Amino acid sequence: MASAWFGPCPHCNRALSYLEGAAGANMTPKCPSCQMVVTVQRATFLMADHSRPSTQPKPTTAKRP
Ligand SMILES: [Zn+2]
Repeated sequence: MASAWFGPCPHCNRALSYLEGAAGANMTPKCPSCQMVVTVQRATFLMADHSRPSTQPKPTTAKRP
């Protein structure tokens, strides 16, 4: 049974999606941003979370009408 939650990377604080029980999940997932292993309680697949605002500065590619 897969479940997902959102949280920051403990190393680089980047917003991540923690997908528990997803395909490719394992007990030592690596942060897609800093490539450090993140300690988890369940097999987890880490994905950069682009859907939520983070501490990163806004992209400079602003859309123009
Ligand atoms: Zn990280």
